[in-house]
Amino acid sequence: MQLRYQYRVYPTPGQQNMLARSFGCARVVFNDALRARQDAYAAGVTLSDTDVQKQVVTAAKKTPQRVWLSEVASVVLIQACQDARRAYRNWFDSLTGKRKGRKVGAPRFRSRKDTRQAIRLTRNGFSIRGNRKLYIAKVGEVEVAWSRELPSVPSSVSIIKDAAGRYFASFVVETTDDPLPECDAEVGIDLGLTTFAVLSDGKVIESPKFFRQAERRLKKAQQALSRKDKGSKNRAKARIRVAKAYAKVTDARKDWAHKQSTAIVRENQAVFVEDLCVTGLARTRLAKSVHDAGWGMFTRMVEEKAARYGRVFVKVDRFYPSSQICSTCGVLDGPKPLSVREWQCAACGAVHDRDVNAAKNIHAAGRAEWLNACGGAVSLSV
Ligand SMILES: [Zn+2]
Repeated sequence: MQLRYQYRVYPTPGQQNMLARSFGCARVVFNDALRARQDAYAAGVTLSDTDVQKQVVTAAKKTPQRVWLSEVASVVLIQACQDARRAYRNWFDSLTGKRKGRKVGAPRFRSRKDTRQAIRLTRNGFSIRGNRKLYIAKVGEVEVAWSRELPSVPSSVSIIKDAAGRYFASFVVETTDDPLPECDAEVGIDLGLTTFAVLSDGKVIESPKFFRQAERRLKKAQQALSRKDKGSKNRAKARIRVAKAYAKVTDARKDWAHKQSTAIVRENQAVFVEDLCVTGLARTRLAKSVHDAGWGMFTRMVEEKAARYGRVFVKVDRFYPSSQICSTCGVLDGPKPLSVREWQCAACGAVHDRDVNAAKNIHAAGRAEWLNACGGAVSLSV
């Protein structure tokens, strides 16, 4: 499967300058390609991918308005063209129902004011040199902080500049990890209310304290920013401080989620989680809560690692009333206010911790779904 490996890179001022040009050219080509497709569609004309590329790259380079496109690596321009194609296709397929799942929005034109600037390069546009530096076409050899080894030769790389002014190289690599040795343990995970998560075996994953500290610093920086005058130099500086504080929160959270998800996938043959449909939640005030924001990232990591190491991963439907069912006898005991931490089942008398009971139910429901899926596959092959 394909995985992304991201590293911090440190371009020199000259290289930053060249990267800025590449970001700019990629943005222009992306926008031109998008516009060409929209115009063609409006006029009822069919444009092939090659037509678009010829128009916005090859022919454009010969015009006085776009002659500067030749200053950057052409692989960057071609990839920007491909990105526009994918964005347009995804949206179009989503509209026509060809693409299943969440609706994809209309592709947005890129702006020089976007906080994230990026270029993408395929094999002919980059290489990792013997001196461990990353060679980027027309930019040169850039210093990389190799925080972990790449498992194999990457097929492509994106160079990203984030809002905090940091640069990253994000490699796409094909991994052929061997599955982990099988084990008997299975686990259901419930998103805790006062803790990060509760497992069906009773284990509790606490939200680390540093989240709150980092969040406080971020809040302070945001307040300082709001006090600065619009358009002032101090405001620009304050904005960078906010971006840096934000990046710190994100990094710490990511790091922590990696550790937790690795441990869970290692220790369990099957993992069942509650599907909170985080994209829906993200539009509500709930998303402000630290662990809600981390939950989507955490479950994505568990899913990815489970696939990578041959483990089972099942998401349980979010409408399943996991906190209302007695995990011992299966009776639906009715809704309970959030303040109720412990309750006794009226039917069988079992006493439950609210979260552990929910995790046990998620385990059972996920397991049933998984066996169902296996059964389906068997009957198909008969
Ligand atoms: Zn019961």
